[in-house]
Amino acid sequence: MTLFKSLFSATALAATLFAASASAEGYPERSITMVVPFAAGGPTDTVARLVAESMSKDLGQQVLVENVGGAGGTLGAGRVASSEPDGYTVLLHHIGMATSATLYRKLAYDTLNAFDYVGLVTEVPMTIVARKDFEPTDLKGLVEYVKTNKDKVTVANAGIGAASHLCGMLFMSQIETPLVTVPYKGTGPAMTDLLGGQVDIMCDQTTNTTKQIQGGTIKAYAVTSPARLDVLPDVPTAAEGGLTDFQVGIWHGVYTPKGTPADAIAKLNASLKKALTDENVVARFAELGTAPSADADVTPEALKAKLEGEIARWKPVIEAAGQYAD
Ligand code: ASP
Repeated sequence: MTLFKSLFSATALAATLFAASASAEGYPERSITMVVPFAAGGPTDTVARLVAESMSKDLGQQVLVENVGGAGGTLGAGRVASSEPDGYTVLLHHIGMATSATLYRKLAYDTLNAFDYVGLVTEVPMTIVARKDFEPTDLKGLVEYVKTNKDKVTVANAGIGAASHLCGMLFMSQIETPLVTVPYKGTGPAMTDLLGGQVDIMCDQTTNTTKQIQGGTIKAYAVTSPARLDVLPDVPTAAEGGLTDFQVGIWHGVYTPKGTPADAIAKLNASLKKALTDENVVARFAELGTAPSADADVTPEALKAKLEGEIARWKPVIEAAGQYAD
């Protein structure tokens, strides 16, 4: 009887503990960490900080951005995958979440099974840019120049799997010219070197390049959107500059570690939706050449479908290129 009783109370205790972990009543009761898998000051960081600021107001708790850069975003994603699934650690990552699943032979996490989904955030166009005093004056000139100076020209990126890496690879494959790449922990520090003239060219999101292009501190050759952008009316599309098939959009999503209580995810999702209609966020996104995802896409289901679809889309492309990271 005693044994039965203690077994019973152990079961009851376990059930109570399980209930506590499976629901998050009163959530959030303390600050939330939003991991950005790239360095501070870059495009992913910019998007995350705008969203986090708005979510902090809505949730009544600070959403603190933590930059965990390196290895094309896989270190930060790995940090979140192994965090406690309690709703207090979230990840804001971009398309690299999908491409790294194939690009990296060894990942510390299983991309499709290590996360829960909160929703899509935004899709950002890229720009092909260079240091201010780089000789070529337009995209055609750039292509000719890099073809004849291929051992000299350096291309910055944020590591294998980063958007800048994918865009740079696409550029090199379209012009059939491999170039010397320089990896950074994010395109924030890469931009610092581009401004300082230590590196020649970069393909990066408008969320990092628009202000610099407008201010004339870097040179812009093309945007990767199908049409020119209102904020950069003088920058031609890649197609106008002679590179057809060069449309790249960098989608971003918010994830939590697998096993996060459903009501915490629901609160995060409602707050993300509010952030993406916050006038300040919408206006700042517009100034940076982007817009929030449509409300119907700010859902766990839409992000999951996007991730699955994008892993399938990029897998054969990456396998055909045959370039992997160990
Ligand atoms: N999003 C950038 C990239 O993929 C990196 C960054 O956000 O710093 O290149």
